[in-house]
Amino acid sequence: MNCREYVEFLMAYVNDELPPDQADAFRQHISDCPPCINYLETYHDTLELEKRAYEEQEALFEEAPENLVKAILAARGEDKA
Ligand SMILES: [Zn+2]
Repeated sequence: MNCREYVEFLMAYVNDELPPDQADAFRQHISDCPPCINYLETYHDTLELEKRAYEEQEALFEEAPENLVKAILAARGEDKA
């Protein structure tokens, strides 16, 4: 596996979607390739940031439904009137 393949497989590896033999090749490559180790760490940081942003969005969504329901009910009321 070379570095370009590594990057291509990275997402599948992180998502546990690699077949065992490819996952092995992947781990073998990273055990001996500092740039890719760096890349993986950066990638993990990015994933963490995205996860946090996603969770913040989720939190916003959780507050939304009540207002949304009220808005829909209000809109329906206006339709009838
Ligand atoms: Zn590499």
